[in-house]
Amino acid sequence: MSKNIDISIVIPIYNEEDSLPQLVNEILDAMRNSYDKFEIVLVNDGSTDKSVDVLSKLTQEIPEVLGVILRKNYGQTAAMAAGFNLSSGDVIVSLDGDLQNDPADIPKLVNKLEEGYDLVSGWRYQRKDAELRRKLPSRVANRLIGRVTGIRLNDYGCSLKAYRREVLSDVRLYGELHRFLPVLANIEGARITEIKVNHRARKYGQSKYGIDRTFRVMMDLLTVWFMNRFLTRPMYVFGLGGIIAILGSLIASTYLLIIKLLGEDIGSRPLLTFALILGIAGVQLFCFGLLGELLIRTYHESQGRPIYRIRKTLRGGRDLI
Ligand code: UDP
Ligand code: MG
Repeated sequence: MSKNIDISIVIPIYNEEDSLPQLVNEILDAMRNSYDKFEIVLVNDGSTDKSVDVLSKLTQEIPEVLGVILRKNYGQTAAMAAGFNLSSGDVIVSLDGDLQNDPADIPKLVNKLEEGYDLVSGWRYQRKDAELRRKLPSRVANRLIGRVTGIRLNDYGCSLKAYRREVLSDVRLYGELHRFLPVLANIEGARITEIKVNHRARKYGQSKYGIDRTFRVMMDLLTVWFMNRFLTRPMYVFGLGGIIAILGSLIASTYLLIIKLLGEDIGSRPLLTFALILGIAGVQLFCFGLLGELLIRTYHESQGRPIYRIRKTLRGGRDLI
């Protein structure tokens, strides 16, 4: 922590022994001309090959490299989060350790960030991956995520992204949520954009993910959608559902009451069962909303999560932060 770091480049590593030396060299080539205060944070995520050896050798040879060795394999998101936490730059760039992202794109992302964005995401517009197994599911996922979250990026899955540190300290990562960083950051009010980046075919090793990832991404999407929607006031959603159901039940009951008063036997009517179920469901939904409110309160408090975020404060026309 002695020298001030401007840019931290964070890379999760799981069995990438062959890619590592070339990766670090390419990053040095891309960075050394334009920046002098940067670091490369390599996070070994429980690799079973020689990645750790290669990594520790790199830390000996290259002062910019910070090596982080996790105890076991925690997954890409956790490895990235570890790297983010241990890095010290004001700007953080993430990318993959398999040379599929092009380090030459890093300065472009950082420049874009400096135009006034909080998060710049890469778009692999000419993606070099298997069509059916990888590209097709991604295309569907990107559409869906865009629709559900309202943040229309062409490529959520691209690991190559640049962030302002504040954005990352505002969000909490777990599971497979790294690809939803733009959405999570957006919930916190970040300005987000996307630029086209290069993508290369995997040269060494193989992808760690298969089709089962699509399922996990979809489940994460549900979670994120839920957070986006409910994190502020669950009562607005559940309460509304509850009131609608209760009203429906009341209307049906009134109708039944009227025809009962007119002398008809309503005991055998399916509508009676329906009205009862709807009434109970409505009350339950309403109570869900109340419970949700309690949960959200404890959630906000336990995380010390503020109800607003300040972009800047001005006095006498001058920026104070
Ligand atoms: N990775 C990781 N832990 C894992 C799986 C992957 O740190 O459990 C890293 C991997 O080394 C790479 C990045 O995450 O740097 C993306 O993985 P991969 O290239 O296999 O994914 P794909 O490009 O196929 O989406
Ligand atoms: Mg890859």
